[in-house]
Amino acid sequence: MRAMVLEKPGSRLRLIEKPDPVPGPGQVLVNVSACGVCRTDLHVVDGDLTEPKLPIIPGHEIVGTIGATGYGVDHFKPGDRIGIPWLGHTCGHCAFCESGAENLCDEPGFTGYQIDGGYAEMAVADARFCFPLPGEKSAAELAPLLCAGLIGYRSLVMAGAESKRLGIYGFGAAAHIVAQVARYQQREIYAFTSPGDAAAQQFAIDLGAVWAGDSDQAAPVELDAAIIFAPVGPLVPAALKAVRKGGIVVCGGIHMSAIPSFPYAILWGERVLRSVANLTRQDAIDFLALAPKVPVQTQVETFPLQQANAALQALRNGKLTGAAVLIP
Ligand SMILES: [Zn+2]
Ligand SMILES: [Zn+2]
Repeated sequence: MRAMVLEKPGSRLRLIEKPDPVPGPGQVLVNVSACGVCRTDLHVVDGDLTEPKLPIIPGHEIVGTIGATGYGVDHFKPGDRIGIPWLGHTCGHCAFCESGAENLCDEPGFTGYQIDGGYAEMAVADARFCFPLPGEKSAAELAPLLCAGLIGYRSLVMAGAESKRLGIYGFGAAAHIVAQVARYQQREIYAFTSPGDAAAQQFAIDLGAVWAGDSDQAAPVELDAAIIFAPVGPLVPAALKAVRKGGIVVCGGIHMSAIPSFPYAILWGERVLRSVANLTRQDAIDFLALAPKVPVQTQVETFPLQQANAALQALRNGKLTGAAVLIP
């Protein structure tokens, strides 16, 4: 099969031919139809995340059809369309796994980070961490749901069910999905983008935001909660200033630049600052059931597999509206 491989952080992905993978016990072999490009992939490629298996095939928003099943897989069969997300393995016995917080597992394996991912024609995955994706939508449209959607949804849940006025900082792939879910839940969206990014602000308004502006502007109203998707530490004090007493600020990214020091007064008043890490399988079950009801419509820009470096560069430069998706 053809695959785009990272051999060394900080270098470009290289197109290589390698033997087709074989599913082991409990695994499925998937013929990849589409794989989304997530900001986390950039953090892996750039070396911000320091524990990749090397060489590694990135990509953890995989949509494909099952080509073969390994021993013991009985709930999927060849031809089924499934999705493979970031959470690729958990130990099942640590305190986190046992308490329903498998997203925090002590010995996890992540797709496209420690487990070869979807920037390839084929992938193998632990069947217990794959999800059926029935329906009419194209694979490219579904791919961003597998991480931008899932992590975005977990971030939205953490922002609090009662939070009506919701700020979103960074209006990329995750935000464009979260905004649709939040609107469906009758929330008001206030979108903050890089200063002067008129295209992203218009995109937010088109998706139903009641207000869109620059991230260095004050919010037009006091917010109940805010989610930060942009990997920009100074947005943390900005968001804390924008939320009311008791408000919640959720950091949805896996990596962020340093957070500058800030006066205690902007945290005082029982404001809550928290991160969201990874996902649980229950998050995936919940979100994939909800998405068709909204219904979530993703905006994607497709790239051929061999142009993965160009797709990553477009994401790095903020040149995408919506989500990039690779098609093998
Ligand atoms: Zn565990
Ligand atoms: Zn991701």
